Amino acid sequence: MNIFFDVDYTILSADWSLRRHTREVFARLVEDGHQVHVWSGEGKRHKVVKDHGLEPYVTGVFAKPIVDYAKGLKRYEVDPVPDFIIDDYPQIVEFFGGYHIKDFYLQRDDDDEIETVYQVICEQVETGRSTNPRWRARHPEFDEHVAAALGAE
Ligand SMILES: [Mg+2]
Repeated sequence: MNIFFDVDYTILSADWSLRRHTREVFARLVEDGHQVHVWSGEGKRHKVVKDHGLEPYVTGVFAKPIVDYAKGLKRYEVDPVPDFIIDDYPQIVEFFGGYHIKDFYLQRDDDDEIETVYQVICEQVETGRSTNPRWRARHPEFDEHVAAALGAE
């Protein structure tokens, strides 16, 4: 799958630290045959990817639409279309499908959210869905919205 991670408060804290297990889970996802991408409402975050040693695992770095998600894919030249996203902002997860992660403001020793993301992705690959309450299915009209947006000027 093409898996898209948000940056601020998803993998990056307010004080620029990387969330626990992020590097290990990125590596494992790549090993499992997925492509890991990073996108942000603040624009392309190459510096975050570089500063935290994520470059070996990250295929694409994109700007993320914060409104009008389908049209935003074209506007920001997001290619490929995300299959699964991880974001602390619930609305975008309800459109693309994925995992609505708990906010990451400060590093905590008991924060296992990124591990949970990995479990949820494995579960979705195996069964097409997840029983985790923070998992979200794709919007039922996702394909139509995306096709219309990518076909439109
Ligand atoms: Mg965020």
